[in-house]
Amino acid sequence: MSITVEHLNKIYPNGRHALKDVNLVIPSGMFGLLGPNGAGKSTLMRILVAQMEPTSGKIDIYGHDIMRERKAVRRVLGYLPQDFRFFAKYKTYEYLDYAARLSGFTRARQRREAVDAMLEEVGLFDVRERYASKLSGGMKRRLGIAQALIHNPKVIIVDEPTTGLDPEERIRFRNLLSKVSEHDVTVILSTHIVGDISSTCNRMALLNQGEVAFYGSPEEMLRQAEGKVWRVWVPHDELQEISNRYPVITTIPSANGWELQIVAEHVEDYDAEPYAPNLEHAYVYFMEYKLNQWSND
Ligand code: ADP
Repeated sequence: MSITVEHLNKIYPNGRHALKDVNLVIPSGMFGLLGPNGAGKSTLMRILVAQMEPTSGKIDIYGHDIMRERKAVRRVLGYLPQDFRFFAKYKTYEYLDYAARLSGFTRARQRREAVDAMLEEVGLFDVRERYASKLSGGMKRRLGIAQALIHNPKVIIVDEPTTGLDPEERIRFRNLLSKVSEHDVTVILSTHIVGDISSTCNRMALLNQGEVAFYGSPEEMLRQAEGKVWRVWVPHDELQEISNRYPVITTIPSANGWELQIVAEHVEDYDAEPYAPNLEHAYVYFMEYKLNQWSND
């Protein structure tokens, strides 16, 4: 079972062409949608959850055409939007109980069991008496996931979930999503933070200015940046000059100047050695070179 997106276009009423002939296959497991702000990620997410209509194109979610079978699609989907808010009057467990009621748990005992199990799953059982609006940012995101999961969806869509979280919560949230994806649930994670896309994503896409710039596994994206990352040593007074010539990823003070990591097709005029790329390097390589925004001349 998978999700297929074919020739998808979205042109907003103001003429903004936010998605340009997007084609994707999203298999089960964890899928990462990476792209800078304004790339079109939220537009794609909103179309996927049938909150907005595309200008043209076709989407099939687990055998259901999204345009013709909206109800069926909504039944298999869980959604955590970017600006998810809680009603101030609800405690954490009350909120989840409310979500469970909405999704058809009518028998009180069965509902309580489902709510308690879900609170355990997302690590919020101990704070179940706390008002949802008083939870920390990371806890709120986890409660957001819990309310999306209580419907027992086949697909869960999370839009920029780690924005504003501290590193510890970000890792915890990422681990929760990968745990969820092991329960036969497809997780679609949209983010502008490269660190959110881990090896737990079996597939990913890089969206840029409404177009799919890369589609494949994180390992394949890494491979494309092999031989393009360099460790370079420059004297103190040459930092500015090299920064004008190449994208610099890290800058470390060294004995006689700076040790840098740069991304380049090839390096001239500097003392350089190849360096094994990570996903952040690969992202910079795609954005700066493949997408022609940086000239190496
Ligand atoms: P992302 O989620 O990757 O940051 P968005 O999908 O929010 O990107 O936006 C993609 C492009 O569409 C941006 O240029 C944005 O300004 C534009 N856009 C988003 N929503 C609207 C809207 N309602 N009307 C007009 N343009 C929009």
